[in-house]
Amino acid sequence: MKREKIAAILNAPKIGEKVLVKGWVRSFRANRFISINDGSTINNIQAVVEFENFDESLLKRITTASSVAVIGELVESQGKGQAVEIKVESVEIIGDANPDDVQKTVMQPKKHSLEFLREQAHLRFRTNTVGAVFRIRHAVSYAIHKFFNDEGCYYLHTPIITASDAEGAGETFHVTNLDMENLPKNEEGNINFKEDFFGKKVNLTVSGQLEAELAALALGQVYTFGPTFRAENSNTSRHLAEFWMIEPEVAFNDLKDNMDLTERFLKYIGKYILDNCKDDLQFLNDRDAKEQQSKPQNQRNELSLIERIQFVVENDFKRLTYTEAIEVLRNSKPFKKKKFKFPVEWGVDLHSEHERYLVEKEFKCPVILTDYPAEIKAFYMRQNDDGKTVAAMDVLFPGIGEIVGGSQREERMDVLKKKIADFNIEEEELWWYLDTRKFGTVPHAGFGLGFERMVMFVTGMANIRDVIPFPRTPQNAEF
Ligand code: ATP
Ligand code: MN
Repeated sequence: MKREKIAAILNAPKIGEKVLVKGWVRSFRANRFISINDGSTINNIQAVVEFENFDESLLKRITTASSVAVIGELVESQGKGQAVEIKVESVEIIGDANPDDVQKTVMQPKKHSLEFLREQAHLRFRTNTVGAVFRIRHAVSYAIHKFFNDEGCYYLHTPIITASDAEGAGETFHVTNLDMENLPKNEEGNINFKEDFFGKKVNLTVSGQLEAELAALALGQVYTFGPTFRAENSNTSRHLAEFWMIEPEVAFNDLKDNMDLTERFLKYIGKYILDNCKDDLQFLNDRDAKEQQSKPQNQRNELSLIERIQFVVENDFKRLTYTEAIEVLRNSKPFKKKKFKFPVEWGVDLHSEHERYLVEKEFKCPVILTDYPAEIKAFYMRQNDDGKTVAAMDVLFPGIGEIVGGSQREERMDVLKKKIADFNIEEEELWWYLDTRKFGTVPHAGFGLGFERMVMFVTGMANIRDVIPFPRTPQNAEF
């Protein structure tokens, strides 16, 4: 007999049919009702056993977390809470689970803290919340590939090991196979990387953008979607040492085209999740509502999770320049009452407190900030005519802060070379990058979306550690 997925059975129940279901027992009540989940949906199927017809020794082994195969007729449910159930004809225990051991884990059916779930990241997939998050994470990933495929963008696999850290996007992790106990030295007494595997110092990538630009200037439009590594010692709820980033790069796009693409892209993901992840989203929506209730009134979100996604899908993002944002912030109540921790004046980098004020208090919608001072942005961003600012854009989301960072790239060789010198970067290191400006250079633009930050937004999870299977953070690389 062929196994059927619980999702398929519940979506289109065929009453009277004989089905085979395999899954894990979530609970077994009154020696009669087995609640089974197979991961295909957040919903369990109820299997009803007439205990008189079964061996007591068999029934004893139907415990929470054990795995079973159940065959029986699909019937309309007698009880409340489910439309259909399985009238069990046979039960097979596939794998036992000792109840005493289960007691100590997140599989015990009761509410657990997210911290406890993180300690048992290997078992937390068995819980409703984490199951829902990872089904949605998959859907976000699929939506991203679908969006770019439909746009005619090619998926480009940029290297994970690279010698380029010129971007300065973050602290890097070195990659080496040198003997750490016995490092080769050169004449000056420094480590001799010529003897290292690649014959030079290399690191894990902080961004695939520079390589994506090379491809975009021939294939027209590409995107990357891969792991990114930053050795940043910031133990925040929004930073990981290993995260996934999506970086589209489009030839002939200027900053406005770039903003339009970003906005369309983020709305598409939101709509895809609303349309395709209804059960998981409803569960997380209710979870989020309870979570909001336990917060102080002034920190609560006025909108539910589903409403927050709908809001992003349906409303235009607010677009303003960095210079305008500084004005808004300097005229704000928290600035005048000296409530901001960090200074607000033209030229400073904005901090999370400023970004959140703009998004959550001032405009109450996603914000795209553009045209930042050149000094606080990367060398490759296109210089504006004012000579002071560059064609950069950051997208700020409620509850998250920065979700996207992007720009129009400097396509003019002379300006780019001057910027490289200003940033004290060795021109020779970037010979390949500069070559693209030598042969038919064109305006182009792109951005980077932090994948986990988007997953946080559509799941309502407040900590980035809860939306990646096995988080890598300072002092933590378990599992
Ligand atoms: P932040 O100011 O939040 O540290 P950033 O300016 O360093 O971000 P970019 O270099 O522009 O970020 O990277 C592009 C996107 O990648 C960001 O908008 C964000 O969504 C995501 N991102 C950056 N750093 C991390 C990280 N350590 N963990 C998870 N996502 C990140
Ligand atoms: Mn950063």
